[in-house]
Amino acid sequence: MNALMERTKAVGMLSGGLDSILAFRLMLDQGIDVYALNYKSPFCTCTSKGCQHQATKVAHELNVPIKVVPTGQDYIEMVKHPHHGYGRNMNPCLDCRVFTFSRAREYARDIGAAFVFSGEVLGERPMSQHMPALKLIEKESGLEGILLRPLSAHLLEPTVPELQGLVDRTRLLAIRGRSRKPQIALAAELGVNDYPCPAGGCLLTDRLFATRLREAFEHNDDTPRHMRMLRIGRHFRLPSRARVIVGRDELENAALRNLVRPEDTSLEPVDVVGPLTVLFNSTAADDVRTSARLCARFSDGREQPEVTVEYGTGMLRVAPLSEADTSPLRIGG
Ligand code: SF4
Repeated sequence: MNALMERTKAVGMLSGGLDSILAFRLMLDQGIDVYALNYKSPFCTCTSKGCQHQATKVAHELNVPIKVVPTGQDYIEMVKHPHHGYGRNMNPCLDCRVFTFSRAREYARDIGAAFVFSGEVLGERPMSQHMPALKLIEKESGLEGILLRPLSAHLLEPTVPELQGLVDRTRLLAIRGRSRKPQIALAAELGVNDYPCPAGGCLLTDRLFATRLREAFEHNDDTPRHMRMLRIGRHFRLPSRARVIVGRDELENAALRNLVRPEDTSLEPVDVVGPLTVLFNSTAADDVRTSARLCARFSDGREQPEVTVEYGTGMLRVAPLSEADTSPLRIGG
């Protein structure tokens, strides 16, 4: 390997899952100067520290610099209006890839990297990793010829860095399909033993979450705060269009408490055990009363004729809402 090859910079997409780790190892083993890029999605199923924690940990172990990019309103807009449509639920995988790879192109340009690479495997994912999809992503993200998929490179046309000799194509692979066996065998060969959270989960592929998200978009509830709300509790839409969330356990109550703002109304039963209930963006008397009845319905006082519920500076004595009256308000089951 000559000195020029050792100076070649590349940006790699690092989720922290096995495929991305292997792609990084293949590039590092060729002496490429690798910079990792990770996206902090509002829809990642990882909680608390999140997938970026896993990616950061992997980057540290691989001894490569990492840039973690939070996705914000622009990402949510893409999810709301994907050019290429959704998968089985609300997952706009093609647009999502174009979005993230476009940002990778910008990062590569900024740091003078010769190409971008990823751990994508031909045929591994039905929507975004078949041949036409890989080509579309490469084209629409502005990475034509400079997007390398080291794990499947021999099944794809040679990229510019391969043609220029910056990357040795003979040391790239021809992995195809959904079986993880070739990756697991390669991991063993390379001594990669620790890969929890393989690709990270995405809530956009979850049926219940998709139902909630669709309903939220219909009501223009589309901020990052709304996206955080959708992960927590039981959701209800009142006739006024206000949203009510009822916590299901202590963890959810705590998460819900963190989302409350002055314009919201928090409610809790007074003399029985029951959930934190939050009425978002409303203090209207009718909404507060219905929220109090929902709160009572999910409390230990649900069989009682009335429950006392505290909210703000007031208290209400209300009858728990019946199942028949609760069902029409419920969002997403
Ligand atoms: S599963 Fe989610 S994160 Fe993965 S490509 Fe699809 S939309 Fe993007």
